[in-house]
Amino acid sequence: MADKRALITGIRGQDAAYLARLLLEEGCAVFGADKKSGDTTYWRLKRMGVFDDVRVVYMDMTDQANIIATLEAVRPDEIYNLAAQSFVENSFRQPLLTTDVNAAGTLRLLEAIRLTHLPARFYQASSSEMYGASREIPQTELTPFYPRSPYGVSKLFAHWITVNYRESYTIHACCGILYNHESPLRNPEFVTRKITRAAARIARGLQDELVMGNIDVRRDWGFAGDYADGIRRIMRHPVPDDYILATGESHSIREFIDEAFAAAGIDIDWEGTGASARGVERKTGRAIVRVSDEFFRPADIAIVQGDAAKARTVLGWEPRVAFRELVRLMVESDLREADEDRAQGDGTSGASRPHPR
Ligand code: NDP
Repeated sequence: MADKRALITGIRGQDAAYLARLLLEEGCAVFGADKKSGDTTYWRLKRMGVFDDVRVVYMDMTDQANIIATLEAVRPDEIYNLAAQSFVENSFRQPLLTTDVNAAGTLRLLEAIRLTHLPARFYQASSSEMYGASREIPQTELTPFYPRSPYGVSKLFAHWITVNYRESYTIHACCGILYNHESPLRNPEFVTRKITRAAARIARGLQDELVMGNIDVRRDWGFAGDYADGIRRIMRHPVPDDYILATGESHSIREFIDEAFAAAGIDIDWEGTGASARGVERKTGRAIVRVSDEFFRPADIAIVQGDAAKARTVLGWEPRVAFRELVRLMVESDLREADEDRAQGDGTSGASRPHPR
């Protein structure tokens, strides 16, 4: 792999950090595309120990000329398109921005490949959110799509335009339809990390309560490191195709909360149902989890569960980290972070650190 050049868009994101490490380990030259605004600390790349090895280039998914110039400069053999406005809730507040980055951005990148005639392989980060309200559980690659958010709709366009460019221009383009995958590198605004961080901070006396949206929805959660390995396998298969990566198990958010607090040494009893549910610490009777309408989505998905049989059979891919282990490794990381915050006397708010390490 020594001569292979990989370009990863969304280099400051969770998946890019795991993928960059995998690709560097096999000797690829890794270029990370960043839109150069907001958080420029690259804390995830640093935490994975790869910051010095990733060559950062500036490329915004909303700027066609910038994308073409970047491809011409980097001349990648592989392009992993991970850049996105990836927060589903935000997509209801910023549907046009979400569409511009996720849908039109993917088309711009494909157009850049077509116009520059680069023989680069292309990977698109498709999402289980494209299935949305699908009645088929678990979903396979043949299940009809029914997205339930502007994010899901934007990802569906990106998915189909990738398939279309593969079929129209013989570009080696493939899609990974990934179910939720988490890690200690997950942004704290996402529900899993919001929970693990709150469990750790409540356990350490740095936060009083966790306020949640709908805790009865079920999700198929895997570990981001396993999914980065799946992404690489999808890209490297000689025939470009689309694959689901999922664990095949679903768990409710309530189960995730129970598991996370247990990992932080707190047992929870539940009272009430739906929007009036609350979680009480068994030992003290203190209410520490509350449900609020404020965090309910305008349209939600009751259950998400994928069937990754095709990836297992064709690519030999298997998720290794199970649900309980995933929650525990996230809580352990957040407990270490809470201990550091406590040592520094920084304990006033559950969201006090804008860019966690
Ligand atoms: P992240 O949100 O952590 O990373 C996405 C990155 O894209 C961010 O660093 C973001 O930068 C960047 N980005 C946003 N807008 C632009 C833009 N205009 N130009 C260039 N870059 C931009 O996502 P993940 O790592 O979790 O996921 C990777 C991909 O996989 C995403 O496309 C996501 O939608 C998809 N996916 C993720 C799943 C998951 O469970 N993690 C499940 C299924 C699909 P900034 O931080 O500055 O905003």
